[in-house]
Amino acid sequence: MHPVSSMASLSRQPLDRHAAILCDLDGCLISGDRVYDGARAFAARNEDRLWIVSNNSADTAETLSARLHRLALPIAPERIVLAGEQTLRRLALAHPGAAIAMHAEAPLVALAHDLGLVVGESAPACILLARQTRFDLNSLGRLVAQLESGAPLHVANLDRTHPGPDGYPVPETGALLAALRACRPDVAFRSIGKPAPDLIDIALERAGATRGDALFIGDNPETDGLAARAAGVAFIHIEAPGALPASDGRATC
Ligand SMILES: [Mg+2]
Repeated sequence: MHPVSSMASLSRQPLDRHAAILCDLDGCLISGDRVYDGARAFAARNEDRLWIVSNNSADTAETLSARLHRLALPIAPERIVLAGEQTLRRLALAHPGAAIAMHAEAPLVALAHDLGLVVGESAPACILLARQTRFDLNSLGRLVAQLESGAPLHVANLDRTHPGPDGYPVPETGALLAALRACRPDVAFRSIGKPAPDLIDIALERAGATRGDALFIGDNPETDGLAARAAGVAFIHIEAPGALPASDGRATC
């Protein structure tokens, strides 16, 4: 591990020996709708070998790419690998045309329809728990009931929080899982989000890069660092700068 103080300093470093640069998103390039110092320069400098590997489970690559464009941080959808979307795509391959119970935001529900899955709560073949801001006690009750069907639970990512732009932690999918575990302490589930190596493997396959040619950059040793280790990829740990100024002088949405 090679600690680096910030994205700003990393943006000035040559990383030329790496054919593929894989980078986490929240806490590395952005926080909410604010862009960290150096992130735009870093993305521009490494544009042709940069791949975003994120535990984001609220967006698809398409919706996230559109949001990043509005933040003047243009990254193409095909260069974005997200935990929620990739979980859904794997479920669609494993259970073509099946019923799926989803606790997720609209972009993932729309993608499920596009992939031919039948979204509903009746006799699901599988259950997906992703980041959903309107998840409440009624949602939790429905999830507990759905699990009684015996359908396997897939949790997009296990992060309890991600860094917020004001320096406060933002609740994540793992916080919803913690609520479920308060009701069902021994609930079984699967997750391909970091620290599992699956998302890194997908990015490497898209990049056509070997593990030895790649570098992973992340702010969380417990997810990013362990995923890089599991995938056999070099890792740089950067420290999120904490609270960001109200405006960094560029357009935000
Ligand atoms: Mg992060």
